[in-house]
Amino acid sequence: MKFLKKILSTISTPAILPWIMPFLLIIPNIALAITEPDPLLSKATDIFLPLGVYMLLASVTTSVGITMLFAIPLIFFAGFQIVLLYLYGESIMAVDMFLNIATTNTKEASELLSNLILALVTVFILYFPALIYGIVCLIRQRRCTLTTVRHIRRYGAIVFAAGALLLVASYIALPRFSVRRNIFPVNVIANMIEAVNRTIDTTHYPSTSAPYTFSPTLTHDRDLREIYILIIGETSRADNWQIYGYQRPTNPRLSNRDGLVVFDKPLTESNTTYKSVPMLLSPLTSETFGDSIYYTQGICSAFNEAGFNTAFISNQQRNHSFIDFFANQAQTTEFIRDNEPGSLDDHLVDHLRDFIDRSPSDKIFVVLHTYGSHFNYHERYSDDFRVFTPDQASEASIENRRQLLNAYDNSIIFTDYVIDRVIASVDSLHIPAAVIYTSDHGEDIFDDARGRFLHSSPTTTFTQIHVPFLMWFSDRYRDAFPEIYSNAIANSSANVSTTRSVFPTMLSIAGIDSPHIKSADDVTSTQYRELPRHYLNDYNEAVDLKQAGFKPYDFEKAQNYNIATD
Ligand SMILES: [Zn+2]
Repeated sequence: MKFLKKILSTISTPAILPWIMPFLLIIPNIALAITEPDPLLSKATDIFLPLGVYMLLASVTTSVGITMLFAIPLIFFAGFQIVLLYLYGESIMAVDMFLNIATTNTKEASELLSNLILALVTVFILYFPALIYGIVCLIRQRRCTLTTVRHIRRYGAIVFAAGALLLVASYIALPRFSVRRNIFPVNVIANMIEAVNRTIDTTHYPSTSAPYTFSPTLTHDRDLREIYILIIGETSRADNWQIYGYQRPTNPRLSNRDGLVVFDKPLTESNTTYKSVPMLLSPLTSETFGDSIYYTQGICSAFNEAGFNTAFISNQQRNHSFIDFFANQAQTTEFIRDNEPGSLDDHLVDHLRDFIDRSPSDKIFVVLHTYGSHFNYHERYSDDFRVFTPDQASEASIENRRQLLNAYDNSIIFTDYVIDRVIASVDSLHIPAAVIYTSDHGEDIFDDARGRFLHSSPTTTFTQIHVPFLMWFSDRYRDAFPEIYSNAIANSSANVSTTRSVFPTMLSIAGIDSPHIKSADDVTSTQYRELPRHYLNDYNEAVDLKQAGFKPYDFEKAQNYNIATD
């Protein structure tokens, strides 16, 4: 107690007071210097320059309270940055993070936040007393001496000058360096502004995308009765799929399914739902997403134009962004959670059957958007699927990894069941039919020393983008279009980017040709070609996997699956 009193009386001496604000605000910069893989010069600039600015700001007035209160916005950014570093172990607050908050439903966000208590408490302890202290100083009109202010101004000027020199050196020596990207909190504020701009552009989507047309031509017989289903999974990583070599029997049904083609080496180009799903549902790839997303329509529009009866049936909440826009382009759109909150993915199959029974057209195309294996994992399947137990832990901690994995594996078994039921439903029609399944992205479940959990972090890991990709063809389809089936088998051991190939492949299987389709991306074409791996980063740029955040461990994991990473 005496010790605490001594600390308090020391920091409240007029000579110390103005140093508190710069000290607190520079903590995230120091933390980032430890966590980020940036060059040393960039890190030094990111400490000296902001510290110099903070010290100069602290020297503007002798009123400590005013200084503290003006620093509130910066304290807010510093606090959240520390929470993020705790959660992901690296990276500044990204554009995608702000947009994820905007496009994620509140329940999902609170599920994640409830696992962040420790980080929030740390931030609270670090910054909240400072704020209270500032208010107390303001009320009591506490001031430091003019001499102290001159002191901190002189030192602040020296630190700032050093920071400015380092800044010049960084711009000269480091080709990728910029204040916009490398200096905290400028980068975070710029990311927030970018997120706002993208949100504004998104609200104009209905008008900016209206002129878009797929101009399709149909190669199948106009009178042919046929049905095609595209299932978009959620948070399903191939590592935990038995048909991808996982040691647990998580695919009891699909393992025995006739007509199934499993692609050995798929990766997605984004670890976030709101970017990956629009790429899967459109001709966009990581190269074109940033420029063209506001002007492009989705796969249901393509099938509409080709004369199909289309439906988008989702077991996710509305995200008020491109997934909803693409969903609404279908002739029938159902978000089943609107009326059945908490419904499991097998309900999608009931809605699918209803739609097929009611369809006036012989040509049917349906997108099913599942909730798959999204956290909390144990809420994604029914009791009959509690194969691996215990599975009820929902607190995100490494101690619970065994339970989290049990629940995650149970959710994969449930996904296996849902896909198999979809296949059985269309198989029973005895017509040419095909089903494609892939997941938007994978997941981290405290798999290695990094202790990472969940997905959509600003940098990705291998398990966040290693997704299953498979397709099934009915007997009648294989009889009618044997070359599509045999080409799929021939390409099944090739390296594939799901976000690039799902769209052209789905159209090609349905006999739809369009100027927007490249045969080189179609895995049922003899012209399919492997391309260099790309990843859509936070600035909507297509980067290689090292720039996407892959560490040696990730490259090694990819190699174990014989997946090309360059
Ligand atoms: Zn997702």
